[in-house]
Amino acid sequence: MRVFTGIAASPGIVVGKLKVVNRQRVVVHEHAIVTEDVAAEIERLKKAISSTRAELEVLKLNLECTTGDEHLFFIDTHLLILADERLLVETAATIEIGLINAEGALRRTLQKYRTTFEAIEDVYLRERISDVETVIEKILRTMTGEAQDVIAPNDGLTIIAAHEITPSDILQMDRTQIVGLITEIGGRTSHASILARAFELPSVTGVEGIADLGLNGSAVIVDGLSGRVIIKPDRETFLDALQRKRRYEYIELELHKLRDLPAQTVDGCLISLKGNVEIPEEGASVLNHGGAGIGLYRTEMLFMNRQEMPDEEEQFREYAAMQQAVAPHPLTIRTLDAGGDKLLDGMPHMTEQNPALGMRAIRLSLNMPDEFKKQMRAILRISALGTVRIMFPMISGLDELRRAKVLLKECMSELSQAGIPFDRAIKVGIMIEIPAAVAMADLLAPEADFFSIGTNDLIQYTLAIDRSNEQLTELYQPLHPAILRSLSRVVEVARGAGIDASICGEMAGDPLYLPILLGLGFDELSMSAAAIPRVKQILRRCTRQQASDIAAACMAFATAGEVETYLKSQITSHFAESFD
Ligand code: PEP
Ligand code: MG
Repeated sequence: MRVFTGIAASPGIVVGKLKVVNRQRVVVHEHAIVTEDVAAEIERLKKAISSTRAELEVLKLNLECTTGDEHLFFIDTHLLILADERLLVETAATIEIGLINAEGALRRTLQKYRTTFEAIEDVYLRERISDVETVIEKILRTMTGEAQDVIAPNDGLTIIAAHEITPSDILQMDRTQIVGLITEIGGRTSHASILARAFELPSVTGVEGIADLGLNGSAVIVDGLSGRVIIKPDRETFLDALQRKRRYEYIELELHKLRDLPAQTVDGCLISLKGNVEIPEEGASVLNHGGAGIGLYRTEMLFMNRQEMPDEEEQFREYAAMQQAVAPHPLTIRTLDAGGDKLLDGMPHMTEQNPALGMRAIRLSLNMPDEFKKQMRAILRISALGTVRIMFPMISGLDELRRAKVLLKECMSELSQAGIPFDRAIKVGIMIEIPAAVAMADLLAPEADFFSIGTNDLIQYTLAIDRSNEQLTELYQPLHPAILRSLSRVVEVARGAGIDASICGEMAGDPLYLPILLGLGFDELSMSAAAIPRVKQILRRCTRQQASDIAAACMAFATAGEVETYLKSQITSHFAESFD
């Protein structure tokens, strides 16, 4: 038995078989062959190409059934490359003329393509070499018998271990069989972790050494509550895990009973608990967990795993599906927040030294106004169907907000001229997730209809701690006095200006923080669907006065550690029997 400890990234306990995903490039050796072997080598190449194609077709079919077909462009691109006769013809010629084995010849073909692509001026086209590389890598893996890079399950319940898992990996994987994730890098608020929680996939991140191929195939327990990963558990540990699993599931079931009860404090103060979502399928889950609408719809997932940006119609359909899933509840749609750890395949990948500080979110949208307007027109059209708000990510000051609003106004005029209905009084809000926006809150408030605090990034930028860096988890402190002061300032400014202030970062979904957030004056919190019942449970056990007293006491502490100790003691003595 081996026990690893990492960061609990998505709750739940699962038992399954470990599949280590080896992301290394397959190693192939080029060697000389004799003329008599040429035909056999070409035949091997042909077989590898056709079985790679068959494998991709099966994957596509599976994904169509499980995820829907909107995210499958990347597979189509790979199938097109496989169908291109030149790949076979040129490689076969190298085998025949150069008298080398098929793997070596395929590597040479790739090298030739690289040189050709490098000469292309258009950055977008030049970067399509990555698709050719992926396809050739797949063929080579088929030939050498190495596992494919697509994260596919084994037979039965599979737990994936990898150095890194990206948001697009999670979207692609067959989540009916993949029941848990373990990664070496990533933090609790990295986007892959957020997506894992959205799909209720228990996961542990920051587990060094887990991608060791020697562990492949082992029985494993992933404990997404404590952050422990146990390989080849002994009988006692296994039974203990099962018991913890049952207890967790029982508590979840009990919490489910709160679904239809109001989200209100003992003294009758109603708080709006909403859901954070990424794809329309999650809308129903939010309502099922008792959520009162969507406080944050991260639209970037629609833009991932594909080569070109979705057009206005496609976006309209996707947002309409989300709106219908949650109607008559309100829906807050955030405009594209790509960049950072959410890279889009269809856009030139800039090499940035600091992607978190780079061309992302609103900056990126303002940089491509035509695409930005397509998205805003689609959102505006949805606003004709029900209560919809639009929200801009990573606003750092008035210039960005004003520029975005000018483009929004243009979209409104265009729709009016075309006679297309939309809500002329649509609420336009901003995310407060950059320290500059906190400092500027009083100047931003008159020009925004609401604030929504993105604590994930606000903590990252205020404390200068990379939210995805597993080595810095201890320093990523939501209760740092600088963060509490920022939250307090923003809610006070909003109240003074008469606009709503909510929180949609992960902090909102942690029941430990509920009393302080409530006490500071927030009356709207948005979180992953699964977090809603626990937050509601604590909410229904406290009064606003208790929460205000707790918040006031917390504001007087000088370190995050002191605040945390105090908060835990308050929670366990007043609102919950245990807290793990
Ligand atoms: C945040 O930063 O807190 C947030 C909600 O946005 P995201 O996690 O998508 O960056
Ligand atoms: Mg953010």
